[in-house]
Amino acid sequence: MFSRILSGDIPGEIVHETDRLFVIRDIAPKAPVHLLVIPKTEQYANVVELAAEDPALLAEMVAVAGDLAGGDFRLIFNTGEGAGQTVFHVHAHVLAGGLSEGSLGD
Ligand code: 5GP
Repeated sequence: MFSRILSGDIPGEIVHETDRLFVIRDIAPKAPVHLLVIPKTEQYANVVELAAEDPALLAEMVAVAGDLAGGDFRLIFNTGEGAGQTVFHVHAHVLAGGLSEGSLGD
């Protein structure tokens, strides 16, 4: 699904792109800034697989999240259906702005 945004089949603004990843705004934002950082490859379903097989790509995702958040931020990888993951193409949620201090989730 995310790959179809990258290819232009589904509308969606690409807010940042590198050789290996791209960034879009979540369609249902949970904070004033809610970005999704997504590897271009569909090879990894979740962050555990990604960390095991391509830690450099995971590190790039974290660095890009930090660059784009514009200050303090929360980085979330929903991992598995029971944790709310709905798209099994690994992606990081970057939440920033107006976060309630010390809380997790919403
Ligand atoms: P997950 O629940 O798998 O962690 O995250 C999937 C996210 O993708 C959800 O937060 C959902 O709002 C977002 N999403 C689903 N479909 C689209 C879409 O077509 N465009 C964008 N920009 N985000 C989407």
